[in-house]
Order: sequence, then C-alpha cells, then structure tokens
Amino acid sequence: MTESRDQRRLLVIGIDGGTFDLLDPLMRRGVMPNLAAVVARGFRATLRSTIPPNSAAAWATFVTGKNPGRHGVLRFQATRPTAEAGREFRPGAYTLLSSESIAGPRIWDILGHAGRRVAVINVPMTYPPRPLNGVMITGLLTPPEARDFTWPPELADSLPGYQIEQPLAAMGFSAEADRELVRASLDILRIQGETALRLLRQEPWDFFFVCFTGTDRLQHRLWGYLEELMEERKGDTGKKQNRSDLSDSSDLSDWSPLHDPSDLPDSKYFLRRLEHYYRLLDEAIGRLLAAAGGTVNCLILSDHGFGPAPERAVYRRVLARYLGLEAGEGVGGFHSVRAWLERRGILDGDRLRRLLAGTPLRRLLSRLSRFAVRKEHEAWRSSRAYLVVLHKYIGGVGINLPPDSPDYAPLCQSLIERLKAVCDPDTGDPIVTEVWRREEIYRGPRVPVCPDIIFRLDLRYGLSHGDSPGGRLVQPKTFRSRGIHRDEGILLAAGPDIVHGVGGKAPAIADVTATALYLLDAAIPSDMDGTVVADAISPAYRAEHPVRIEPASEEPVSPDMAGARWRSARDEDAVAEQLRDLGYLD
Ligand SMILES: [Zn+2]
Repeated sequence: MTESRDQRRLLVIGIDGGTFDLLDPLMRRGVMPNLAAVVARGFRATLRSTIPPNSAAAWATFVTGKNPGRHGVLRFQATRPTAEAGREFRPGAYTLLSSESIAGPRIWDILGHAGRRVAVINVPMTYPPRPLNGVMITGLLTPPEARDFTWPPELADSLPGYQIEQPLAAMGFSAEADRELVRASLDILRIQGETALRLLRQEPWDFFFVCFTGTDRLQHRLWGYLEELMEERKGDTGKKQNRSDLSDSSDLSDWSPLHDPSDLPDSKYFLRRLEHYYRLLDEAIGRLLAAAGGTVNCLILSDHGFGPAPERAVYRRVLARYLGLEAGEGVGGFHSVRAWLERRGILDGDRLRRLLAGTPLRRLLSRLSRFAVRKEHEAWRSSRAYLVVLHKYIGGVGINLPPDSPDYAPLCQSLIERLKAVCDPDTGDPIVTEVWRREEIYRGPRVPVCPDIIFRLDLRYGLSHGDSPGGRLVQPKTFRSRGIHRDEGILLAAGPDIVHGVGGKAPAIADVTATALYLLDAAIPSDMDGTVVADAISPAYRAEHPVRIEPASEEPVSPDMAGARWRSARDEDAVAEQLRDLGYLD
C-alpha cells in the first residue's frame, strides 16, 4: 500500500576527510570505541570519491546522488570565469559558489517532498538555506558573521555562540596558529556535537544528516602528527628511516616520528590534543547513535580520504607555458602581489601570508591588485585554452572554443598528448598518470561548465599556484598543508537492515545517496547516478523492498552556474579568505 508510510528512519554522519588509514589504527588503539562497535556489528567499505576528490564536488555529489556533470560543482569556485555583464571580478575571476549553484534537488528535498521530516546540519554549500521540511544549520561557505544560517530562520535564536567553521585567527601558519586551530576545533566539535544531539532528541525526523568537518581542517594542517598517532609498535624493522626520539615527550617515546621532529614542533602537545579530538568525535558519534536508538539505520561516510602532501611541486604557470597555454587561473588580488614579490625574490609567499594573515593590509592589497585580476581575465579571453587547478593532484584544461568548431578536436588531442608527455626533468618519471576528455568521466547538462580535459598527477607531485623561483617546472617543496586528500574515503553502516560484512567492490559516493533513499523506502529518481549498495543490506529488507525508480523531475537544468548572491562584498571576501586559508582557494 503506497499510503502506509514506512516508519524506518536513517541517521547519516559525515566525517569530512575520514580515512581508514587513520581511523583503523585509532579504533585498534581504543581511541574510537563507538566507531569500532559499528564496524564490529555492521558493514564497511572503502568509498570512492569524485574526480576531483575535493569537499565541494564530493558533498555536492552525495547530496544530489549525481555526478558533477549534472550538479556542476567541481570545486568551491566556478571553473569558467563569470566576468560577463560588467561583474566585478572578486575575489578572482572565478565566482564563489553557494547552495544556489548546485543543480537539482538534494536528498532532503526529495524526502521532504515525500512527506518525510529531515534535519541537516553543517553540510558544506548549504548557505543560503532554502526552505525544507525540517531543520537546517548551514555549513562551510557560510559568511562568518551571517545570522541567516538556519532553517527555519528563528532556529538561529536558540543557537547563541554556534560556530560553523574555525575562526580566521586559527588560520595563520605557525605553531601558535596550529595550537589555536586545535583549540578552536575542539570547541567547535563540542558545540556541534551537543547541538546535533539536542536537535536529534527534540526534532521529529526521518532523515538526520550531520557533517563533522573539523577532521578535514586538522588533517590538512597536522597530518604529520596524525601519522605518528597511526604508528603502531612494530619493532625496529619498520619502514621509518628518519627514526629519532621525541625530545620533549618521555611518555610517548616509543612512537617513531615519520619526519624530522623539527618539522613537528610541540609533538607532545599536538599528539595529546589530536587524540583527544578523535576521542571526542567518537563520543559525539556514540551519543548520536545511542539517542537515535537500535531501530534506526545509520550510515557514516566521508567525502574523500587523506594522505601525506606531495614533496614535489609542479608549478601551474610553468606547466601552462609548457603546454602552450595561458595560466588562466584567476590569481586573486593578494596572490598577484605575492607572485610579483616571489618572482623578484623579495619575499616567499608563505612568509608574507604569515605576516599579513587577517590584517587590514592584506585586504588592502587584495583591493589594490584587482587590476591584475582584470589583466589576467583579458589574457584568459584571448587564449585558446587555460589551466585550472581542481585539487592538488587533479587539474583541468578549459578550451575557449565551441566543441563543434573544426579546431576543437585537434587542439584537444594535441593537449592530451602533451599532458601525457609531461615528465619530471630531474628523474624522467612521468608526472601525469591519467588524462580524460570530460565526456569520459562526466555526463549531464552541466558537462559544458566542466574543463574540457581533466588530468591526474602521480601522488608524489602537487600543483602549486605560486611562481617557480627559477622558472623550473618541478621543484622540491614543502606545501602549506601537511596532508592532502585521497580518492579513498570510508563507508560504514549499521542497523536493523544492515548486514555484518566488508564490501568487496568500493562503492561510489552517489551510491550512498541511492542507498539512503532505499533504506527509507523512498523511490530513487531516474537521473541519479548512484545504485543501491546491495551487499550492505539484509536479505530480509531486500526481499520486502524492491528498489523503486521514479521518473526524474522535468525541471530543466540551466547549464550555467549560478554564482552566490552574497549580501555584501564583505561577506564574499570573508568567505573567500576562509577558503583560502583552508587551502581551497589560492
Ligand atoms: Zn572534504
């Protein structure tokens, strides 16, 4: 009977950047007993992230169940300049995206439309909030001082002091800023965990989705320390070569550091606090699971995995010249100045960042050098193709020709060949491991906004925005982030309709969306790209619930990306600065 509403409910917990490489050792060491209990009774699988594996593309894929060719999000900015109609180029030539930029209904829209109540907390790219059948607290890309970060709007009144993201004070590049990041992350985790628990208990819901993103922030900046937390006692035959003792940590002395300790100041402090962070995260997850109760199915997923940063930089501008292209990427104001200073050897960019982080001078520099952005945009317009960075090891080439132009296919082919031939001048090793035409990996109405060619670097290399000091294509470099993303994320599931086991074939993120709908006995729209992760689900549930596919909504999708309609330039600058400091904008 279609009227008989299924009473099943679903709790979804997002761990941004969650990876078994870190979580498994933490579970084994007893730091995350609640997560270990989920593994012990439930289902686990490695989850394949999107191409590119960044939070924007991956969470947009989870919330829509669609590939980037349909929702259009490849990163937190557009990938083609949106400088028409006299739009001022801020903070670069590439507009920042918002909730309005994602094409198609979100999973909570689909469920709400079917009469199910939803709660959505801290999911990136949900600002500005749109009406939904339940409650929402927006996530990353919410302007830091925004008051309109909830649905319904009055929910914000009951959340005094709520924090969505780390304050900019935690964003410099120094041991002190790292300490501030850890302190702020612990505070935010506490606030968000308590708020989620309160809403889970108070609100009626069928679908409850909370995303914890502090893991990503900490892992970017402090991955080296986390590698030490991952180390298990394996005697002296381990793989470590730079083995040395932590001078300041007698009680931790049997952890062997991967790096020279001078790279990881205050190890004792950070190891303790980081372990504490994951312990608190596990407690928050445990409380949510307990409050939801044993009749609720639960999915825990990450948007991408994590691993150490590469040690060699491939300089974007040099690579562009090597390919015969314009560099293309809008160098925001600050970066134009930085690049100019770097080229002249006056200052290294990271030092300048540290000196100016959060100061009015930095904002002033941004404004003064908007001229440079305009210049860059003019160069972009006159170039046949341009290079775009989508993640450290994923790049794109946009072609400024319509695909039906006679020159398009030969240009595309020659660029693909040139990309495949890019080698490290020092070793002769190939740098680019895979090259795709966009149609090979994306499909849907927004393929035209994707760069025409997408390529992947060997993980030993990372694309760098800065200018190469000697004009060299490749140089050893210590990236600002000690950790960067990986394709391999996590999927855990537990509950009355979930089997105990390990997934064989790694599902993709969109498969989790289809699985979430299926576990709520909702129909799956026909334009979703995911399929149900059947080997996670009990034979009894599958026998009673055939997968239902329903025709997708007829609403046409505009191929153009809508930029965020920021309330003020100040809001946009603040969000851009936050993204920059998270390493998402450069
Ligand atoms: Zn992420």
